[in-house]
Amino acid sequence: NMRTLPIQLSDTQYNVMIGSQLLEQAGALISPILSQKKVFIIADENVAALHLQTLTDSLSHAQIHYETILIPPGENTKSFKHFERVINQLLEKNIERKTPIIALGGGVTGDLSGFAAASVLRGVPFIQIPTTLLSQVDSSVGGKTGINTSIGKNLVGAFYQPQIVIADTQTLDTLPHRELVAGYAEIVKAGLIDDPELFQWCEENGQKILSKDHQYIDEAVERACAFKARIIKNDEFEQSSKGRNLLNLGHSLGHTLEAELEYDGRILHGEAVALGCCLIFKLCTRLGLCPSEDTSRVLKHFKSVGLPTSIKDLNSPMKATNLLRHLQHDKKVKDGKLLFILVNGIGKTFTSQEVNEKDLYKLLIEDG
Ligand code: NAD
Ligand code: ZN
Repeated sequence: NMRTLPIQLSDTQYNVMIGSQLLEQAGALISPILSQKKVFIIADENVAALHLQTLTDSLSHAQIHYETILIPPGENTKSFKHFERVINQLLEKNIERKTPIIALGGGVTGDLSGFAAASVLRGVPFIQIPTTLLSQVDSSVGGKTGINTSIGKNLVGAFYQPQIVIADTQTLDTLPHRELVAGYAEIVKAGLIDDPELFQWCEENGQKILSKDHQYIDEAVERACAFKARIIKNDEFEQSSKGRNLLNLGHSLGHTLEAELEYDGRILHGEAVALGCCLIFKLCTRLGLCPSEDTSRVLKHFKSVGLPTSIKDLNSPMKATNLLRHLQHDKKVKDGKLLFILVNGIGKTFTSQEVNEKDLYKLLIEDG
């Protein structure tokens, strides 16, 4: 029951393996791509307590030696401080150019480990074993790695592709419901970007995914990864305004909400993305760009799974001026102007630099 999805890029290709109990087979799955029988595993403490043993048993079985580096769970770990700690531990344990780093965990572990793999010794092989729905459907595929700074999210990092992604959907059985729902938001986002059929499939099957029906989870991961593969194929380094950039639908506003709440767990990344998408649909309807029926449909679906659709849902009063200030530090700025992903409807996104601050301010004031 394993699905294999090839990711094709101009100068590299790798497989995303999707299915149940793949962690048990990890040793055998990675053996063919190893040039030495040694790996480093980076995992956060929560994931290590639940799933590390299964991975290490499987590595031992395949006679692969391993060293483990643990990091604290949570968005705050994507920092210079923890990046430095991880790099120093890798060097103290004598990592070599050909020794792969395995990220076992969610997007936080994947982003930090991938950046460490990209920079230690100027680059060592990298393997992703994502264990959250968010990382299986989004962050483990595509090669974006990095950390946050006090100025903003994901502002330091590298494009660095993994050699294989092993998405064991059974690991999601231990994932808290709120985390599952947050990851689900990125699947819906994919549909909203340019796959209306995926959005409709979510409307019909979302509840089955969220009740952890494995058949539907596996299909969701495959659909979302296939969508992402298609988008990154022609724009690996985010140089086109129509390619990878579109993946940031809802993210500029989402990131400002995350920054304002200081990444302390009051809002999860996926929740911020859901709300960010809702704000963009509302904005576009106000600007006469998007039919109000589409916006209602989007809000209705996010609400039905318990995701926030309005700033009020966060129960944390926020100043519109603060949110606008965070927005200025977004990466998506070109010639001093913010690049926004806007919509003409479900599955119809485009980039624009013409969003004016007054319209945003009004939207944020009225929504909060
Ligand atoms: P996360 O890595 O913090 O994981 C969420 C929580 O779930 C953590 O507490 C973790 O310990 C726990 N957890 C992980 N797997 C578990 C399991 N199987 N069972 C029980 N608990 C488990 O967060 P996330 O939502 O996976 O990722 C969010 C991060 O991903 C953000 O930093 C975001 O910026 C980043 N991201 C990156 C990309 C990219 O392209 N690189 C794309 C989207 C998001
Ligand atoms: Zn995201």
